[in-house]
Amino acid sequence: MSIRYVSTRGKAAELSFEDVLLAGLAADGGLYVPTSLPTFSQSQLAAMQDMTYPELAYEIIAPFVGDCIAESDLRAILNDTYAEFRHPAVAPLVQLEHNQWVLELFQGPTLAFKDFALQLLGRLLDHILARRGEKVVIMGATSGDTGSAAIEGCKRCDNIDIFILHPHQRVSEVQRRQMTTVMAPNIHNIAVQGNFDDCQAMVKSSFVAAPFLPDGRRLVAVNSINWARIMAQIVYYFYSALALGRIDKPTSFSVPTGNFGDIFAGYLAKKMGLPIDKLIIATNRNDVLHRVLTEGVYSRLTLEPSLSPSMDITISSNFERLLFDLAGREGSLLSEWMKTFAERGLALPDAALSDARLVFASHRCSDSETCDEIAHIWSRNGYLVDPHTAIGTKAARACETGSGTATVTLATAHPAKFPAAIEASGIGVEAQLPSHLADLFERPEAFDVLPNNLSDVQTYMATHCRAL
Ligand SMILES: *Cc1c(COP(=O)(O)O)cnc(C)c1O
Repeated sequence: MSIRYVSTRGKAAELSFEDVLLAGLAADGGLYVPTSLPTFSQSQLAAMQDMTYPELAYEIIAPFVGDCIAESDLRAILNDTYAEFRHPAVAPLVQLEHNQWVLELFQGPTLAFKDFALQLLGRLLDHILARRGEKVVIMGATSGDTGSAAIEGCKRCDNIDIFILHPHQRVSEVQRRQMTTVMAPNIHNIAVQGNFDDCQAMVKSSFVAAPFLPDGRRLVAVNSINWARIMAQIVYYFYSALALGRIDKPTSFSVPTGNFGDIFAGYLAKKMGLPIDKLIIATNRNDVLHRVLTEGVYSRLTLEPSLSPSMDITISSNFERLLFDLAGREGSLLSEWMKTFAERGLALPDAALSDARLVFASHRCSDSETCDEIAHIWSRNGYLVDPHTAIGTKAARACETGSGTATVTLATAHPAKFPAAIEASGIGVEAQLPSHLADLFERPEAFDVLPNNLSDVQTYMATHCRAL
């Protein structure tokens, strides 16, 4: 029996893996979650201990995919996906203290953990589209990491044209160049004369508005609510705990968190049988999730730009997936909660809050604490962390219980992606881009600047996607 997918709001139709891959939000406004989870026993975990990353990824992912993709095809896709990573271990561990570890998730083509999911998503989509004889258009808005990871993930996809909108002159030069220097006939970069919210609003409208693409082509989203992205991220929790040899005692994970996708994958790993003690939500000053855990209230504040921009959010979209479990997987109750949240903020019922606190801890860092932490790790370990990772390592120490539990901090980005924060830390060293990007600043760029106007953008997309 293949796993099916239901909406958190309980009203949309159940989907297969193949359909959930192509779906964004459910028709009832909810997010898709699996109806059941595969679980792994101690002896099954022990048998997985010698597996390479792609071998382990197959064991974790295959139950979610079910019979949508043949075993040999899925194995080939996973081998191909993780061969793109520079380090032979794909996700190597680095030890900082006796009980503190860092999991380097920045060895992929765009130097952030988003490559783990988006390299796979592009290949899964292309495989399924080839079989169906369909071509689709991906549309997304980015203020930084997601756009380049999506572009890199799709650049060899025959059946996908991808259009990424970024706010003109408002993304960092490294981030813009990581998008605009990828030369392939199916990659289309649009610089919008507006801000990130304008870009995002145009993407949202395009998904609900009348179809505007030629030949009835489907529009697909690859934003952080896409189920397949969460699924891909479950694997490295297992991989790192197995690499540490910790299958009989629990490990904690500290996760630099924005939209709650990455840490939700850790929550699923725990439910699937991986011994996990605490999942630590590490946030910057945009602390909506820290406030949920400490005060029990889920409410939106205004956005405050920080040195860790990939965690600058006001709401964490994937948090709805956890709330669904906390609501006893009752779509109607969850819908009520989300309505209250939107209107005035949601006070979590005591039982739900104590359930959440059993699994999650949290810590918040200011920009100056982030800089101090970069300097601390540099002076103590001679190891350079990016500002997102620094918030994670700081939170890992702050939440240590003294019980001797090992904590793994997810290093979500390479320090060379965020030179301003490294400079602000005052350590006097610069992070070097890895060799495959060393000439990034000399490469030719391709992008078009368009006015902040929906019909201009849609006309551009309709005329620039490749012929069927
Ligand atoms: C996207 C991102 C995050 C936040 O991940 P979520 O899944 O949205 O919680 C953290 N750090 C970096 C570097 C990122 O790119």
